Amino acid sequence: MVDQDPDVVLELQKVCKQYAGTDTPAVEEIDLSVRKGEFVTFLGPSGSGKTTTLNMIAGFITPSSGRILINGRDIADLPPHKRNLGMVFQNYALFPHMTVWDNVAFPLVERKVAKETIRTKVAAALEMVHLTGFEKRRPRELSGGQQQRVALTRALVFDPPILLMDEPLGALDKKLRQRLQLEIKRVHRELGITFLFVTHDQEEAMALSDTVVVFDRGGIQQVGTPDELYRRPQSRFVAEFLGDSNLLEGALRRDGASWVLEAKDGPIHLDGWAAPEDVTPGEHCLMFRPEDVLISDSADAADDWKATVREVVYLGSEERVIVATESGGSITVRLSGDALQHRPEVGQTVALRFSARNAWLIPPGQ
Ligand code: ADP
Repeated sequence: MVDQDPDVVLELQKVCKQYAGTDTPAVEEIDLSVRKGEFVTFLGPSGSGKTTTLNMIAGFITPSSGRILINGRDIADLPPHKRNLGMVFQNYALFPHMTVWDNVAFPLVERKVAKETIRTKVAAALEMVHLTGFEKRRPRELSGGQQQRVALTRALVFDPPILLMDEPLGALDKKLRQRLQLEIKRVHRELGITFLFVTHDQEEAMALSDTVVVFDRGGIQQVGTPDELYRRPQSRFVAEFLGDSNLLEGALRRDGASWVLEAKDGPIHLDGWAAPEDVTPGEHCLMFRPEDVLISDSADAADDWKATVREVVYLGSEERVIVATESGGSITVRLSGDALQHRPEVGQTVALRFSARNAWLIPPGQ
């Protein structure tokens, strides 16, 4: 409580949760530090422990061990309503019999805020999410997106230090989801409050967050900015969970000042690769993102690989091409810009080349 960094709003120290009657912990020894004003997303597959962790922070679930601190204070003895945290869930949880105005005013009324202050705050909050004019409606008279904006406003109106959101856009269609993502990002920017967001959707996590916390099987796999996680994943799991990736294994050997990966389908000359300083020759796994694989009709370099096009997925401004190598491996290639002029066809034989500049070595054993 004393040696607390003033920029840290939330700290988890070795937090564990094992539900009664289960063999394995749902959350295992989690350590995490969240800075004030940060937009943090818990990302991971279903069952990886995201909601359990969020609910321990909210106070709905008691940790089996470990400590949770908000602004340096251990909150173990505080029930949910005393933690003063904003909360938004997937199913809105608005009061159906109350108007929009009363729903948003509720947390302030509960806190016995002066009537005049309530009037100003609710009006300002509704204006922020463009719901002015909807004050007298009831939740059932609003669309899903509008209801979720009311829920967001209600969660923020009392200026909580942290806003917790559990899959808040999960029930909305893709277009509306993207609109609300922009809105949530804008509100975060305007208010500067710490946001803690749970999702299993990696695109959503990348689009929204300053920091993404990747969960797997009850533990944190990696914490980083979206770019760090995309470019420098510390494990195969993270490489594969965030975006498409091609993981190629083989013996890494020196070639003068450069390196060569002796992969199953042939050597890859890693010219221009910024190898980690401590890399040693031997068996390794390298990641190439789909935009770092080049495809052409005919091989023009000796070490181009031969491959057969298996699938071409049209995505508008880009195309995802899945090819099979001679050894039967599957490689994903992304075509965009000028490359779309030469669309490969399913069944066609093509040459593959790997651009080594962004190649990334997955830490051994990970
Ligand atoms: P996520 O939010 O990542 O989908 P959860 O935190 O909901 O994951 O769940 C983590 C693990 O804990 C899962 O294996 C889930 O089945 C288990 N679990 C969640 N809630 C309970 C509960 N009330 N009782 C027993 N096991 C639970």
